[in-house]
Amino acid sequence: MIGPETKILALIGNPVRHSLSPRIQNYFIKKYSLDAVYVAFEVKDIDLRETLTGAKKLGFMGLNVTMPYKYEVFNLVDRSDKFAKSTKSVNTVKFDSEMETSIGFNTDVGGFLESLDKKNYNIEGRNCLVIGAGGAARSVIYGMILRKVKKIWVYNRTEERIEEVKKFFKDSGSNMIEGLTDIHKLDSDIDDVSLIVNCTPMGMYMESYRNVMPVPESWNLKGKLVFDIVYNPSETILIKKAARDGADVIGGIDMLINQAALSFEAWFGIMPEADCIKDIKGDILIDMTKIN
Ligand code: NAP
Repeated sequence: MIGPETKILALIGNPVRHSLSPRIQNYFIKKYSLDAVYVAFEVKDIDLRETLTGAKKLGFMGLNVTMPYKYEVFNLVDRSDKFAKSTKSVNTVKFDSEMETSIGFNTDVGGFLESLDKKNYNIEGRNCLVIGAGGAARSVIYGMILRKVKKIWVYNRTEERIEEVKKFFKDSGSNMIEGLTDIHKLDSDIDDVSLIVNCTPMGMYMESYRNVMPVPESWNLKGKLVFDIVYNPSETILIKKAARDGADVIGGIDMLINQAALSFEAWFGIMPEADCIKDIKGDILIDMTKIN
C-alpha cells in the first residue's frame, strides 16, 4: 500500500503518455515487494531545471529521463557515471537525499550491449551500420566502440548530424566511423556488414513512419544481425524484412527492458532476474500484438 514511506520514482519527458516505462518499473517493484511507485510526468522544457530540483527536494528516489531531455539533464546533475559522461546523455537519475545530490546514469548503452550479449552475439572486429545519428545512435555507437568493432558506418539524411557524431567521438573512436548521407553508397560493401542497427523512428507506429523502410529493399540481409531499436510495433517493417531474408533479429523491446532493468539496479541495487525480464517482455508483446 502507498504510504508516507513509499519511495517515488518518475519518468520525465515530453511526450510520455505512451511510455512503457511505468509498466515495466512497477512490474519490477511488485516482483521484488518494494515499497515504491513509478509514475510519469510530461514536463515542459522551461520547467526542466525546477522539476529536477523539486524532485530532489521532495525526496524522490530517482528519475528516468526520455526524449528530448537526456542531454539537458546531463548538464543538470551533480555527478555522472562513465557511460553518461561518454555520451553526454542521462536517462536515469538517482537522488541521494542525505547528501542532497543527484547522480546521472546512461543505461541505454548497457541496454544495447545486454541485448547483444543475451543473443551471444560478439561484435568485436565486425563491421557495423548505424542508421541515424541522434541521441540513441550515440549510445549505440559508444557501445560498439567499447566492444572494439572494426568499422562503424553511420548513415543519416542530415550531414551535420554525422559530423557532430564524429566530433563527439574524436578522442575515443571517430577513426572507425565513416559517414554516409546516401545509403546506396554501401550497396557494394553491405556483404561485409555483420550488424545493422536502426536508431531512427523509421518503422514506428505513427502513420508517417510505419511503412518507411530504413534500408534498401534490394539488400539481402541473410546472415546478418538486424537490431531495430524501435519497439512499437514490436515487429517493424525492418524486422519483418530481416526475418524474411534469413537474418537474426533483435527488437527494440529487448533494449527497452534491459535499460529499464539497469535503471532499477541503479536505484535499488537489485538486478531483475532473467525470468522476471522474460515475463514482462512476454506480457508487453502479447498486448502489442493485440494493438497492432
Ligand atoms: P533523436 O535524437 O531525435 O534522433 C532521431 C534520428 O532519426 C536522427 O538521426 C534523425 O535524422 C533520424 N530521423 C528522424 N526521422 C527520420 C526520417 N523520417 N527519415 C530518416 N531519418 C529520420 O531521437 P533518438 O532519441 O535517437 O531516438 C530514435 C528512435 O530510437 C526513437 O524512435 C526512439 O523511440 C528509439 N529509442 C529506443 C530505445 C529503446 O530502448 N528501444 C531507446 C532510445 C530510443 P536527422 O538528423 O536527419 O533529423
